[in-house]
Amino acid sequence: MPVLELRTIELLTLLTGDPEIRPEAARSLAEHLGAAHLLFFVSDPELGAPLPPLGFPQTLHGGRCWRAFVQACLRNGTAQGELFHPTALDRRTARGWSAPDQTVLVLLDGEPHHERVAQVQCLLPFLGAVFRRERLSFAATGQAQVARVSAAQAKELATALDSVRAELQLALDVQHQQIIERKKAEAELAKANAALERFAHTAAHDLQEPLRTVTTYAQLLSRQFKASLTGDGLTFINFITDGAQRMHALIRALLNYAEASSTPIVMEPVDIEVCLRSAAANLKVALDEAGATLTNDALPAVQGDATQLVQLFQNLLSNAIKYRSPAAPCIHISAQSEENIATFSIRDNGIGISSEHHENIFVSFTRLHGNEYPGTGLGLASCRRIVERHGGRIWVQSGVAQGSTFYFTLALAGAMSKGQGM
Ligand code: ADP
Repeated sequence: MPVLELRTIELLTLLTGDPEIRPEAARSLAEHLGAAHLLFFVSDPELGAPLPPLGFPQTLHGGRCWRAFVQACLRNGTAQGELFHPTALDRRTARGWSAPDQTVLVLLDGEPHHERVAQVQCLLPFLGAVFRRERLSFAATGQAQVARVSAAQAKELATALDSVRAELQLALDVQHQQIIERKKAEAELAKANAALERFAHTAAHDLQEPLRTVTTYAQLLSRQFKASLTGDGLTFINFITDGAQRMHALIRALLNYAEASSTPIVMEPVDIEVCLRSAAANLKVALDEAGATLTNDALPAVQGDATQLVQLFQNLLSNAIKYRSPAAPCIHISAQSEENIATFSIRDNGIGISSEHHENIFVSFTRLHGNEYPGTGLGLASCRRIVERHGGRIWVQSGVAQGSTFYFTLALAGAMSKGQGM
């Protein structure tokens, strides 16, 4: 092995020291060797490519001829050729040496002193080992740092996830509690409604008897003492009879409403035209008195409770007669079927209903008129109860003085299993 000069040793020591002063040490060593530039590359087996040791700038740009030069160096241990110089923008003569363990030394420019190059050359494996260890420890530090950062981030993420999970759980608990409370309130409401309906039914039922007594005795009074009664007496008796009649109508409506709400319904195939005819027969006197025309298209059979459906038609028809315009009532019933559902319509040419009341007329005791039209405000509420208990819905299309069309839906016969209902 050639004996190393002191200056060479010093420069090599500087080169293997602090990476920050490495470019300066490389420049001095190049000068000392008689070359213009000195570059080192450490081959990285993982990347399969030579890389500059820490502190050296990346200088392997220059394209394919540089790569070919470095590969020749790695393959043959030495290479020489004309190369494009990365900093001076011209072509220079380059010489390269590679250590047996593939640390590459490249000398650029001019004619370096052979003995000095030979001295450095024999130290290439040592330099390669230093640079490689340095790179590995740098990579390990980097990885440790990444691992530390990742661990910290994972911890942060886990904490964030925990708090999100806790919030979600809280929201779920609140929602769960709300559902329980709502169900409880619904059950209580249903119980109160049922009790109220039972009370209305019983009260209405029990009121019928005393009312009949009042009516009968008022009629007896008026018949037997008509001759001896003066003007006021007769008027008072008329008030009694009139009041009793209105009370009777209210009691009938209440009983109908209670029936529509709570009487068990039996679902079976029903010929709706038969229901319509029954309802019309029940209203024959009113229809005749009003000079009404009642027509219908062919109507499909539905799944339902015949008694309640007669009541439904009766309520709608009697409204069409009651809320007629000056013209004689024309009422037309038709139906459209789609999939398993029939939509029925009852159109009249009456006084019509302004749009702001299209929803609330179905609420019990809602009346849009005073005494000019007798009524209780329970007819349409009963209709809605009947339709909804059949699983359908009811609505109206109308405008003031434009007549009204009431629609309701029912399941077509055969669409539900027998006995199904609400
Ligand atoms: P009422 O006993 O007052 O007739 P309903 O519940 O049957 O009670 O109807 C509620 C209100 O809807 C009625 O007061 C009336 O103003 C309006 N209404 C119902 N049917 C018709 C109709 N065919 N034409 C115009 N208005 C109607």
